[in-house]
Amino acid sequence: MRELVILSGKGGTGKTSITSAFASLAENMVMCDADVDAADLHLILKPDFKVSSNFKGGYEAVINPDKCTGCGRCIEICKFDAVKELFEIDPIECEGCGVCVDLCPEQAIDFPEKLCGQWYISNTRFGPMVHARLGIAQENSGKLVSLVRQEAKKIAEKGNFDLILTDGPPGIGCPVIASIGQATAILIIAEPTVSGLHDMERVGQLSKRFNIPAMVCINKFDLNLDQTKKIEEFAKKTHIAVVGRIHFDRTFTESMVQEKNIFEYNPDSQTGIEVRQVWDKILSFPLFNTPVANNILQHL
Ligand code: SF4
Ligand code: SF4
Repeated sequence: MRELVILSGKGGTGKTSITSAFASLAENMVMCDADVDAADLHLILKPDFKVSSNFKGGYEAVINPDKCTGCGRCIEICKFDAVKELFEIDPIECEGCGVCVDLCPEQAIDFPEKLCGQWYISNTRFGPMVHARLGIAQENSGKLVSLVRQEAKKIAEKGNFDLILTDGPPGIGCPVIASIGQATAILIIAEPTVSGLHDMERVGQLSKRFNIPAMVCINKFDLNLDQTKKIEEFAKKTHIAVVGRIHFDRTFTESMVQEKNIFEYNPDSQTGIEVRQVWDKILSFPLFNTPVANNILQHL
């Protein structure tokens, strides 16, 4: 079973639009939305929720008013100013360090696990999908990313699916690291800007550190041809396979507004043709058909 993780250095590059378009082209596949901080694949795929589970991560301090004597020790010792007047703990400010729990002279502070969000297993018109929603201002998104990927893998193994298509988080932080471990390959969606090049460089370095083969596709390439060429040159130098270019095309945005992917909205559009070419190129790479080491890329 293979897993393709689609990444971008930042949000707004077209990553989710392209991932949802791939859903129309991929066969026997499980979708996984690992962009848990700003999940939006569901807006297009319209999942039919089948299973919903709580995601707990970390702990939060809660004062028990029946035991609290109001000594004020917790206000003094909390380095995060999470304990407010009248001895209430602000759940947003509380970092869950547990210091007040240990030092409260009355053992008046409970320390339950924190509810950070929900994760779901759903059906979509393209196949099963695992996705999640992280609560506002909640942390532990890396842990939630690992969880949704594990669940997608279980479904794929149980149902004999060949492929997991993972919409990864933007950036290069902890959630991205959690989204790429043991993936078959990653696809970077880059924009032709100076920051687009820099972002691709950073994601490329990450892929090397984890020994995951990387490919790049330049979206809206015609907005800056010089920068597109720089991205492609850099990719070739660093053994990131260039799998195509996609024009800037308003049809892409229009399809999103209609809550459809490009193949459902206008399959014969230029964007539709280019996305199909990118997909064919991804599939044609040996590294994506067998779990081989990424040194194969160096010979492409
Ligand atoms: S340290 Fe314990 S007893 Fe003292 S104010 Fe805080 S919760 Fe109440
Ligand atoms: S658990 Fe830590 S951060 Fe939360 S209120 Fe207690 S001391 Fe402050």
